[in-house]
Amino acid sequence: MTATLHVCRYCDGLITDPGNAVRIAYEDGMSGPGRIVWAHREHAHLVKPDPRPLALLARIRARRAAHPGT
Ligand SMILES: [Zn+2]
Repeated sequence: MTATLHVCRYCDGLITDPGNAVRIAYEDGMSGPGRIVWAHREHAHLVKPDPRPLALLARIRARRAAHPGT
C-alpha cells in the first residue's frame, strides 16, 4: 500500500500523517485536472487564499463606488 503524501501549502513540509492533512482549496490545473491544496491541520487557518484576484475586485468596486456611473 502506498500512502499519498501531500505538501503543506503554508510550510512546504510533507504531511506524513493523513489524519493531520486538511484540504484547504482546489486549484484548477493549467492543463488537465486540478489539484487539491493541502495543509497541516495546525497550519490550515494560516494559509490565505491568493489575494490578487480579491484585491483587484476590491479596487474595481472601490472605483465604482467613488465614481458612480462610470
Ligand atoms: Zn505545515
